[in-house]
Amino acid sequence: MLSAQASFYARWRVRCGVVSDLREERDSPPEQLLQSIWQHQRLLREQLKTLDGRPVRILHPGFRSVEGGPDFRGAVVQFGDRPPQSGDVEVDLRPRGWRAHGHDRNPAFQRVLLHVVWEDGPAAPGAPPTLGLRRALDAPLGELSLWLGGEAAPGLPETLRGQCCAPLRQLSPARLTRLLHQAARVRLQSKATQFQARARSAGWEQALWEGLFRALGYKHNSWPMLRLAELRPRWQTPGAPPFALQARLFGISGLLPAELPRAPAGGSRYVRQIWDFWWRERDAFSDCLLPHTLWRLHGSRPANHPLRRLALASQWLRDDRLAPKLEAWCRREVPAAALPDSLLETLPIEPDEFWSWHCTFRSPRLRRAQPLLGAARMTDLAVNILLPWLWMRAAEGGNARLQHALEQRYFSWPPAQDNSALRLARQRLLGGATPRALPGAAAQQGLLQMVRDFCDHSNAICDHCQLPKLVQDWMAEDP
Ligand code: SF4
Repeated sequence: MLSAQASFYARWRVRCGVVSDLREERDSPPEQLLQSIWQHQRLLREQLKTLDGRPVRILHPGFRSVEGGPDFRGAVVQFGDRPPQSGDVEVDLRPRGWRAHGHDRNPAFQRVLLHVVWEDGPAAPGAPPTLGLRRALDAPLGELSLWLGGEAAPGLPETLRGQCCAPLRQLSPARLTRLLHQAARVRLQSKATQFQARARSAGWEQALWEGLFRALGYKHNSWPMLRLAELRPRWQTPGAPPFALQARLFGISGLLPAELPRAPAGGSRYVRQIWDFWWRERDAFSDCLLPHTLWRLHGSRPANHPLRRLALASQWLRDDRLAPKLEAWCRREVPAAALPDSLLETLPIEPDEFWSWHCTFRSPRLRRAQPLLGAARMTDLAVNILLPWLWMRAAEGGNARLQHALEQRYFSWPPAQDNSALRLARQRLLGGATPRALPGAAAQQGLLQMVRDFCDHSNAICDHCQLPKLVQDWMAEDP
């Protein structure tokens, strides 16, 4: 386990009560932490069983509800071999909470299909199937508390400057970057410990694929993408040709039409081949098919359609030396500005005869070929997945030199594309500073971590937020 107390920023988090030192044998987590554990599925997902012993698979944990009623809406859950079901999830500390909180009499709870509790024990009479989390965490409770820190609904008004804005604006650019990098280090370690926890039960390579798939799902489709990656031992059979992997991914995902679509211009042969191949194999995978409804296909750019992401993943899956290649990449000297391109050389994105020209099986051919992944997205993959994974692997292997090289890479990586979360954070904490105030990807990550640690624990008018005072004290102690 890493020392997350290694930096002054990490000590700030503990001192402010953003994270707490909890032990599962002694403490019950606060219900909010339990909800965060559920939301992020920091669980031994392959081993989940209800209190009455039925295996249960979580295909989607649902969306956190802020309007009263059950804690999570629209979850997709599969009990044993039964078909996946959609419904709500209620999180309570104890099974008896079902009756004690009146959920059994409240019509808003009629669609609850899973009661998630901390403590084991008999399920409440009349309650839906109940899942105990105490013995199902993928890491010790204290580690999860550090990892999850403050998880709350954001929704802060864009126009309001935070109270930390004044002291933060007094910092010189170098000092602000130092603070942001300390927060970024916490974020790097936090992502790395998630990989460490998953690698303990599934192995390093599987943990990497799960991270990559999840990131390729963006925010709307990360859960079905993760589920597909969890099923990798089923569909990535030894010697399976790339075409077979692609057809299986499309088929298992539920995104392949049940009927052969009227083929788009130029793609008829490809579509027919995929379709024919999958329908010969389908029965062999009938126990792990995902429902089409698990995917959220509206509200994102057509070029980001999950089918194109799966086509890309099937390219990367062809390479059975991906992990060693990434490690060789870490050892190469690369100037900071060339880091994204050097990663693209290691994880190439090749043009695809069909998917470079189409967004779905049915869509018309695009006028111009579109890359399967924008180059800018590689920075997100680097800072969120690849560098934390490599860093933790180096730490576990006792390779301090490689770990140091990876940190240098992380802290010198050029900035990612600007986005709405960063814009809001700059507005609130840095008084509307331009993107140039965040000179690299690590500074951006650090700012997002500060929002998570402090803003998400406060409100629009910064009630009880300790960051302004911490920054002022830091300036006074170390002028
Ligand atoms: S809640 Fe805290 S960190 Fe967020 S803007 Fe207000 S003072 Fe700054």
